[in-house]
Amino acid sequence: MPTYRAPRGTRDLLPPETATWTLLERLAADLATRYGYRRIETPLFELTDVFERGVGEVTDIVEKELFRLAPRTEDGEVWALRPEPTAGIVRAYIQHGMQTWPQPVRLTETGPMFRYDRPQAGRYRQFWQWDIEAIGDPGPAIDAEIIELGTRFYRDAGLRDIEVRLNSIGDLVCRPTYVAELTDYYRARRDALPATEQDRLERNALRLLDSKDPAMAALNAAAPRITDRLCEACADHFAGVLAHLDALGVPYRLEPGLVRGLDYYTRTAFEFYVIGREGQQQAIGGGGRYDGLVELLGGRPTPGIGFGIGIDRLILALAETGAAEPPEPPTVAVVVGSDPADTTGRLRLATDLRAAGIAARADLGHRKLGKQLEAAARDHAHFAVILGDEAASGEVGLRDLPAGTQKLVPIGDLAREIERAEAIHRHGAGTA
Ligand code: AMP
Repeated sequence: MPTYRAPRGTRDLLPPETATWTLLERLAADLATRYGYRRIETPLFELTDVFERGVGEVTDIVEKELFRLAPRTEDGEVWALRPEPTAGIVRAYIQHGMQTWPQPVRLTETGPMFRYDRPQAGRYRQFWQWDIEAIGDPGPAIDAEIIELGTRFYRDAGLRDIEVRLNSIGDLVCRPTYVAELTDYYRARRDALPATEQDRLERNALRLLDSKDPAMAALNAAAPRITDRLCEACADHFAGVLAHLDALGVPYRLEPGLVRGLDYYTRTAFEFYVIGREGQQQAIGGGGRYDGLVELLGGRPTPGIGFGIGIDRLILALAETGAAEPPEPPTVAVVVGSDPADTTGRLRLATDLRAAGIAARADLGHRKLGKQLEAAARDHAHFAVILGDEAASGEVGLRDLPAGTQKLVPIGDLAREIERAEAIHRHGAGTA
């Protein structure tokens, strides 16, 4: 047993799995650029207040799962690690006066989030999210743009059978009446509620609706539905979202119980699920509109919408559905040599190849040429560059390891020669 291990609920991401991460992060960044979302980076921690106001105090995320940092007395400020990115991004939007930029401001951020949750499969204390936010557009067209972007990401990542579950949770005009009605509904059935739900009832009845407790299933199915009680403006908005999704050919399922755990959501709320995945308990991504959040954090009233897509759960889902793992980028060339002590010569040659854009490494051990060649083959390198006596006349050996062929190449032509031969490797003989 090692003395130290990664903290509970966290894990080390190791090669070759990290190749998948790199690929997904690139895909997310490329899509974000294509859709006009620009990168933002906010700190991994914020004043606790940002999350307490911005996420809501009566949420699991703040109530139970916030990683609070022990205050340092000289600062007198209380911080917490970010459990989700939206509150921090909105804080930055206000701080930097982004309301004076052309609206909406489209932003994207990818990075680790932290929740002090009970660790289990697909639930970690540190996990990664790809986040998209459009601040300053009331929708409904942009709601559809964002949902479509989410589905495209999953599809391009190799996940078929994605389901969008969709709801509208109203706004400050219609939601309070609905919440009062919902509270009355649960109060009348208080004895049937599990203890935790009884406790939540008086503080935030909406939270009971998305309870995963099986004891709540029947009660929730019969509960009053927000979509039947939307005010006219919210009902129009929701109809607009559906019409735009229909126009884009994005399928969705209406889910009246979908309220999401965060207080700041208004109107459009959605989650992404993998169809047919066991349990269907865990969303692989989710988002929604938060028209009240900018004001809540001290800015001018400004609408916004976004999503957070969990990378960890996406990778689990890809593995479960048998999607192929991407190959790791290979080492193209390994520089070996007949003089074990001449690490300078090998390192210099490898450095020149890398400067020319070739993935190369030098064998820096002091072992015999035969051993160096064996190691290069074990690494699945395509070429061994052999530094020997011919170096005196400006030439090195270039061995094609899989083919077992070898020739002498002038050092000045080496990079070009490797590129040419590598192209033949990639595309098959005859096309280079
Ligand atoms: P949420 O803000 O809770 O809806 O989270 C958005 C997405 O982040 C989820 O759909 C998951 O993909 C991912 N996620 C949330 N919490 C965790 C966690 N503890 N471990 C792994 N992924 C998570």
